[in-house]
Amino acid sequence: MSRDIYFDNSATTPIDPAVAQAMDPWIDEYFGNPSSMHRIGRQAREAVELARHQVAQLINAKAEEILFTGSGTEADNTAIVGLFELAGGQPFHLITSAIEHPAILETCRYLERRGAEVTYLSVDSSGMVDPEELASAFEPHTRLVSIMTANNVVGTIQPIAELARITRDHGALFHTDAVQAAGRIPLDVHVQPIDLLSLSAHKIYGPKGCGALYVRQGIKLEPLLHGGGQELGRRSATENVIGIVGFGVAADIARVEMSRESARLVQLRDRLIRGIVDTIPNAYLIGHPFRRLPGHICIGFAGQEGEAIKMLLALDQEGIAISSGSACSSNHATEASYVLKAMGFDPLRARGGLRITLGRFNTEKEVNEFLEVIPRVVDSMRTITSRAV
Ligand code: PLP
Repeated sequence: MSRDIYFDNSATTPIDPAVAQAMDPWIDEYFGNPSSMHRIGRQAREAVELARHQVAQLINAKAEEILFTGSGTEADNTAIVGLFELAGGQPFHLITSAIEHPAILETCRYLERRGAEVTYLSVDSSGMVDPEELASAFEPHTRLVSIMTANNVVGTIQPIAELARITRDHGALFHTDAVQAAGRIPLDVHVQPIDLLSLSAHKIYGPKGCGALYVRQGIKLEPLLHGGGQELGRRSATENVIGIVGFGVAADIARVEMSRESARLVQLRDRLIRGIVDTIPNAYLIGHPFRRLPGHICIGFAGQEGEAIKMLLALDQEGIAISSGSACSSNHATEASYVLKAMGFDPLRARGGLRITLGRFNTEKEVNEFLEVIPRVVDSMRTITSRAV
């Protein structure tokens, strides 16, 4: 194989060459601090504000509703901790789902330690939250609901508009972690009555270390960072101008290319799913059969779930990069996935998901190459499994 095949676009995406090109002059030529009053500073300010506008357009928000952060994780923390702090010790109940990213779940656990009450909604076997379960989970002091738009492990897309409407009817705020969904499926914070929404540049072919939180006009949050009062006092720190410029261009490209790109990825994804499920007898698809992100596949091999990490490493040796369904981090790669467990998988099967995520730069040729390699890898694992028994 001539070069690595990168099928791990949910972990991170390569920087689009047009994004890299746009960032380039901001690395050395334009170095100003956006808070400076002179021309060099004003240039940087203009670049940040253009990017704010570009990111806002991706979700049909106003530019002033976009708060730049250092990551998707920080956007999630800013929304949840920011609201908790603002409540100033008043009873605080928040509702989330059992399959959120750790950026949400660990933040919830932190707030529980600080006295918040958290309800974790269950999901069905395809990873869907039940709107009726949400409707019955509200309490008089429920301030916030946080449900991800699309799951990072299984790719399932939630009925966000409906969940947001139910939340609004109950007088709470609705936050969604759209880190995986943005740029892949259409998002509109007016059609879907969303109050807070998290984004991350490195999932949409932009740079790492740059995120954003959409905060609907009028919503107040206690800032996490205190200092010079940047971002209208909502996040002190000199702006990451290079990253923000790249994020803006990445958002622009994502908005313009989304429908064409998604259609192409859905085709490649479905070809890959059929190619695996139709030729490997014990293969099964994990997640929702059709409410799933374009390009997102999670697959298991019945009876071989314990070998998922070995399969991942065998594919790596063949120059193919995918990830396990276990977690977003290699620190937990051999553990059962809490997402799959919440979907009703037993602990062994919950270790067996393999996540294959296609992106902008993947080709049909790569899908064909993968389909040639995977039966051989699964077969070699079968030999290991039967020998071990
Ligand atoms: N939320 C989801 C759903 C994610 O998939 C990720 C990253 O994997 C994050 C949040 C964290 O984003 P970041 O890597 O920018 O901190």
